[in-house]
Amino acid sequence: MTKEYDVIVIGSGPAGYVAAIRAAQLGLTTACVEKWVDDENNTVLGGTCLNVGCIPSKALLDSSQKYIDAKKEFHTHGIKTSKVSIDIPSMMERKAKVVTQLTQGIKGLFAANKVDSLHGVGTISDNNEVFVLDAKGNSDKYLAKNIIIATGSVPINIPPAPVDNEVIVDSTGALEFDAVPERLGIIGAGVIGLELGSVWGRLGAKVTVLEALDEFLPSVDTQIAREAKKILGKQGLDIKLGSKVTGHKISKGKKKEVTVTFETKGASEEITFDKLIVAVGRRPVTDSLLANDVSIDLCDRGFIKVNEQCQTNVPNIYAVGDVVRGPMLAHKGSEEGVMVAERLADKKTQVNYDLVPSVIYTHPEVAWVGKNEEELKAEGVDYNVGTFPFAASGRALAANDSDGLVKILADSKTDRILGCHIIGASAADLLQQVVIAMEFSSSAEDLGLTMFSHPALSEAVHEAALAANGHAIHIGNRKKR
Ligand code: FAD
Ligand code: NAD
Repeated sequence: MTKEYDVIVIGSGPAGYVAAIRAAQLGLTTACVEKWVDDENNTVLGGTCLNVGCIPSKALLDSSQKYIDAKKEFHTHGIKTSKVSIDIPSMMERKAKVVTQLTQGIKGLFAANKVDSLHGVGTISDNNEVFVLDAKGNSDKYLAKNIIIATGSVPINIPPAPVDNEVIVDSTGALEFDAVPERLGIIGAGVIGLELGSVWGRLGAKVTVLEALDEFLPSVDTQIAREAKKILGKQGLDIKLGSKVTGHKISKGKKKEVTVTFETKGASEEITFDKLIVAVGRRPVTDSLLANDVSIDLCDRGFIKVNEQCQTNVPNIYAVGDVVRGPMLAHKGSEEGVMVAERLADKKTQVNYDLVPSVIYTHPEVAWVGKNEEELKAEGVDYNVGTFPFAASGRALAANDSDGLVKILADSKTDRILGCHIIGASAADLLQQVVIAMEFSSSAEDLGLTMFSHPALSEAVHEAALAANGHAIHIGNRKKR
C-alpha cells in the first residue's frame, strides 16, 4: 500500500531539514526526500549549507585566520613561533570532519524526531503525490497531504568562463583545492568571492577579484562597504571594479593556467591565473521537480512563486529557502521552514522579512540588518546616525583587533532603531544583539539604557546607540539627517 504522510519535504538543506523536524515535533507524520549521495551511494543530508556552503567555508575561514594570526599577529602578543607552515590536506581533513559531524547529526535528529528519510530525486507527480527515484534506479510513490519544496540553489555558470572543475571552479571546487594556487582569480566580489578570496589569500595566494559592477557591495551601507574595501585591499585582495569578463583561454601545457580577458572602462585587459573561481551568484533548483501536469507558478528567474507564508498557487504545496524569493541565506530558509511547519499545525507563525541579518565572514566581519543610510534617504526618512569605532574599544585594543566601527540608524522622531551596520571582529554576534532589540521595536535610547559588560566588544554597540542621541561617553559620533 502506498504510504501517506501529513508532510513530505523535498530537500534536506537548512530550509528542508528544519521544516521536517519542526513538522514532526508538532505531531505531523513527516518524510524528507534527499537526492544527494556520497561516493558509496549513501544519502547525504544537510544540503549546500552543511556540505559545500556555510560550514566548510567557515571551517576554512577559521583555519586560515589562525594561520595568518600565527604568522603575523602572535608576535604582537609576545608569542614567539618558529617557522609557521601550512598543511592543506590536514586543513581539509578537519573541514571534512566538521561537515560529517553535522550531517550525521541531522540523521540523528531525524531518527529522534521520527522523520522518515527517503532517498532519491523527488518529483511532485500530483498535487498530493511525490515520486522518488533513487540513484540505483529504484522508485516509489508516496502520498502527502502537504508538500514542502526546499530544493535550494546551485552556482550560476557564465559562458565566458565555464567551470571545468580543473582550472575554473565554482564555490564547491574552491573548497577543495589540494594546494594554495599562486595566482588566484575570482569572478564576482560578492559574499563568496570575498570569503573564499580571504581564505586562499591568507594562505598565500595572490588574489585578484574581477567585479562587473562599478560599486563595491551595493547592498551594504556605503560607509561600511568603503571601509571593507580599504581593509580587504590592505590584506592583499586586489578588487577590480567595473571589470566585465569577456572570455578565457586555458593553456595546453602540463601545468594548466587560465588567461582571463575582461573589459574595464572600455579597454580590454587580460590576467593569467593558476585557478579561477566563478562566484557570480546562484540559481534556484527546480530540475526534475515537477511532473508535466503539476502547474506550480515560477517567477521569471526560475524561483518558485510564493506568498508571504511561503504557499504556492497550489494551496497544499509550499516552498522555502533558496528556491524562493529573498536573500539566499540558511537562517532565512530555516525560519521559513519553521513557519510553514507551524502553520500546517494551525499556528499563526510569520517570518519578519524586515529583519533578516546578513554577514560576510571576512576578517573583520561585515554584518548588517534593517535599512542602510542610502535606503532611508531614498525613502525620505529623517534619521540619526550613531557610530562608534572599535579603535576606541578597550576590549578590541586588548585583542589587537580594532579595525572597523558600529553604526546605528534611528528614526529622528521616534528614536526607533531602523538599521545597524557593523564592520569589526565578531560583527555577526554583535549584530544579533541589535536584531533582538529591533525585533522588540527598541529605541536607540532603550539600548543606551541597557547595561553592557565591561570590557566587551559589545560596548561598541552600546556606545553607538548612545551616540545616536548625542551622548556617547567615549568618542562616538552623531550625525543628524
Ligand atoms: P540547499 O541547502 O541548497 O539544499 C537543498 C537540498 O535539496 C540539497 O541537498 C539538494 O540535493 C536537494 N534537492 C534538490 N532537488 C531535489 C529533488 N528533486 N529531490 C530531492 N532532493 C533535492 N548562508 C548563510 O546563511 N551563511 C553562510 O555563512 C553561508 N555561506 C555559504 C557559503 C557558500 C560557499 C555557499 C555556496 C553558500 C553559503 N550560504 C550561506 C548560503 C546557504 O548555503 C544557502 O542559503 C542554504 O543552503 C539554502 O538552504 P536550502 O535548504 O534552501 O537549500
Ligand atoms: P553574490 O550575489 O553575493 O555576488 C555575486 C557578485 O558577482 C556580484 O557582486 C555581481 O555583481 C558579480 N557578478 C555577476 N556576474 C558577473 C560577471 N559576469 N563578471 C563579474 N562579476 C559578476 O553571489 P555569490 O557570492 O555567488 O553568493 C551566492 C549566494 O550565496 C548569495 O546570495 C549569498 O547570500 C549566499 N552566501 C552567503 C554567505 C554568507 O551569508 N556569509 C556566504 C556565501 C554565500
